[in-house]
Amino acid sequence: MSAFDWNQHMAARLAEARTRGLWREIPPVDRGADRTVLWQGRRLLNLASNNYLGLAGRGELRAAAVRAVEEYGTTAGASRLVTGNFALCDELERLTAGFKGQQAALLLGSGYAANLCVMAALADRHTVVFSDRLNHASIVDGIALARAVHARYRHGDMEHLAELLARHGDAPRKIVVTDTVFSMDGDVADLARIVELAQEHGALTVVDEAHATGVLGEGRGLAHELGLSDAVDVHMGTFSKALGSHGAYVAGREDVVAMLRNFGRPFIFSTALPPAVVGASLAALRLVAAGGAKARRLLDSAADLRHHLAALGFSTGRSVTQIIPVILGDNATALAARDFLMERGVLVPAIRPPSVPEGTARLRVSLRADLTEADMERVHTAFEELAVARSRGGLA
Ligand SMILES: *Cc1c(COP(=O)(O)O)cnc(C)c1O
Repeated sequence: MSAFDWNQHMAARLAEARTRGLWREIPPVDRGADRTVLWQGRRLLNLASNNYLGLAGRGELRAAAVRAVEEYGTTAGASRLVTGNFALCDELERLTAGFKGQQAALLLGSGYAANLCVMAALADRHTVVFSDRLNHASIVDGIALARAVHARYRHGDMEHLAELLARHGDAPRKIVVTDTVFSMDGDVADLARIVELAQEHGALTVVDEAHATGVLGEGRGLAHELGLSDAVDVHMGTFSKALGSHGAYVAGREDVVAMLRNFGRPFIFSTALPPAVVGASLAALRLVAAGGAKARRLLDSAADLRHHLAALGFSTGRSVTQIIPVILGDNATALAARDFLMERGVLVPAIRPPSVPEGTARLRVSLRADLTEADMERVHTAFEELAVARSRGGLA
């Protein structure tokens, strides 16, 4: 039997990625979470990071991380279920549960791991998981890990969700899962309708508040903003975006958290978060809970920018949050627009298919609360110039 030619296989796969325009490289970025970023030695305004509140650089977080290292060292040393626990974990879980208005919370190593954990613990082959087509990849991967039946509904299409729930009426167990803020469009889920449909069909509801945590609902997320905290069964969110730290939580009733602790493989078989991270998350959550963060200001300046972009003739889709897509259509235009803005000192990524549907290539602005008035003026001016260049056909 001749041996499989791995060299040839990998060369072919990589060549295909290149020819399809899907080749991935780590960009030449240094200090990528800061308000300004170093890009090949050039300083650009950073409208690409998820550090929405600018908390990552804050003294309170840095000091808490340092204190935690000094007290507990650099690693948890084991899974929480073995000897990886330390007092800061318990404290962060208690604080998170209270902040979210839930009975209990569990820390996970990342948002990615948290979604895997939720699905692995709650779903199985006899569970149908109803999932918005634009939900985060970690939800999709969690459904695969659980070997559950995956029923995808069209983005935000509640009639399609109702139809799929009815079609799977006989399924033994059902879960409806949704991002609350969608990462490529900055729009929000119709949570009231989702909860209503789930209750009608006896389905458990799971929400991923990764982009909403720290921003919407006084930092508590969309479920809180809409008064639906008690109606939603499982609340997942991250410390890695607006909270400027790392890791994630899942909050809910005691029984939900016990399920994750007992059956969630990504929790059971992974080392607990390191002390520095848990310390920083605690400091961040305290700042947000005390209203010390600038979420209101962030949402206001996002509304201003959307207004400005609309007046310039740009489409920002259904965005109502700090994530603002500027939908341009074809890939070449999106790339040219990105380069155009970069020339003017503003870093905004171009997002192309397959991350977004064909023909909707776009710029994706991630606004942040620590931009100065002068920064915002620079952003507004850069888009004015982009609109002029575009109307003259000077883009791509
Ligand atoms: C970023 C993100 C995650 C993953 O969180 P990490 O902490 O980066 O692993 C999960 N869900 C959504 C919706 C996200 O945007």
